[in-house]
Amino acid sequence: MKIIAGNWKFNKELRNLEKAINFVEALEEKISGFNNVEVKIFPHDSVLPQLAKKVEKIKIGAQDIHWEEDGSFTGAPFSAKDLISMGVKEVLIGHSETRAYFGVTDEKVSLKLKAALNDGIIPTICIGEDIEEKERGETEGVLRRQIEKGILPALAIYREQFSENSSLQNEVKSKSSFMLAYEPLYAIAGFAKLRGLEPKSAQIGDIKPAIGIIRKTFSENGYPEIKILYGGSSNPENARELLSHPCIDGLLLGTASWNFGSFFEMIKVAEEISLI
Ligand code: PEP
Repeated sequence: MKIIAGNWKFNKELRNLEKAINFVEALEEKISGFNNVEVKIFPHDSVLPQLAKKVEKIKIGAQDIHWEEDGSFTGAPFSAKDLISMGVKEVLIGHSETRAYFGVTDEKVSLKLKAALNDGIIPTICIGEDIEEKERGETEGVLRRQIEKGILPALAIYREQFSENSSLQNEVKSKSSFMLAYEPLYAIAGFAKLRGLEPKSAQIGDIKPAIGIIRKTFSENGYPEIKILYGGSSNPENARELLSHPCIDGLLLGTASWNFGSFFEMIKVAEEISLI
């Protein structure tokens, strides 16, 4: 089963509650007969609780969380417990835009991840290198650093905490308790535009080895089966090619998820490919 996840970021139209609800309700209807694709939407916090109440098939997640439940943290996003009380069970952690614009470091990724796992929220953890790092041949080092500093310690603590409970341990090891998104920064449309470049997906020749490094690092650390999405300028034109590679479990979309037609088109492609 392939996954199509839409990150609505700070899109103004989709922060309009009526428009956001119409989008989600219409999509629920269009995908009601689809059984082979998992659809997720990460809306802005401004419409998150209302959308969470409207869905049956679509999974709604937050774009970020704060690691503490309470205190003097002006401007913090919702806590994991807030999400639970709203019925939201998914979250993006470490998206490159939160890293670039809001100071989310590997250490903070780790804290957020612990908070999410403690409350049973499924995190999609975003990692990826930028173009200069890629050109200097540092892709492997960057990915390993992000995994080793930001992700593995949090997973290990969670596993330890529940060391008495083998079913919980298995849950953390299993495919469904967390997923990764490989999102090379140079392919993310928003960053490309800021640099005056045409948004362009990464080449499959670069995506495959990067995903290979991620799988190997997790496997070496006792997580042999993880789901990995690709993100970065995916669109209806390149979705089929990207999704047909078995190493890619799904796509995390930014821009292409803001348009109902293109989002649905890509969900349809994922449904078809999953059936093959
Ligand atoms: C993203 O920001 O997660 C993303 C994949 O963006 P875009 O599809 O717009 O490149």
